[in-house]
Amino acid sequence: MSFKEERKVCSKHQLEITTIDLKQSTAKEDKYLCIKCLIEKIDIQNIALMDETQIMIKEMKSEQQTLKIKENQIRIENLKQIECLIKQFKVQIEDVIDKILINIHSRVQTIEQDLEEYDSKSKIYKFEDKVEILSKHSSFILEFSI
Ligand SMILES: [Zn+2]
Repeated sequence: MSFKEERKVCSKHQLEITTIDLKQSTAKEDKYLCIKCLIEKIDIQNIALMDETQIMIKEMKSEQQTLKIKENQIRIENLKQIECLIKQFKVQIEDVIDKILINIHSRVQTIEQDLEEYDSKSKIYKFEDKVEILSKHSSFILEFSI
């Protein structure tokens, strides 16, 4: 096996060897580098391949989208709860207003009935009865005579 064939592919990443570390202090097994080996040597956290970067961008976008959907779902749920509470409150207020209106209407009816009864009774009374009623209201007689 020739040297070229022996060192063609990196054993760690199974990628083609493109670079050789010529530093004397570097161990023999670490001298032959594929692109990933090279990246690891430079700064593993801040260097990535194009393909990897594109995948990372895709994942980031998908994560942001998921987060946005979740946030909006929570907002919708909160608003729906508020809407439901306000609707309940509206029904309660309408109930109270209805009761007040019924009460006012019933009072008006009672007063109107009183008036009608008074009117019809006064027609039935004879003059003598009216004199009788007048004599019961002594204060009125006094006021009138002055
Ligand atoms: Zn490698």
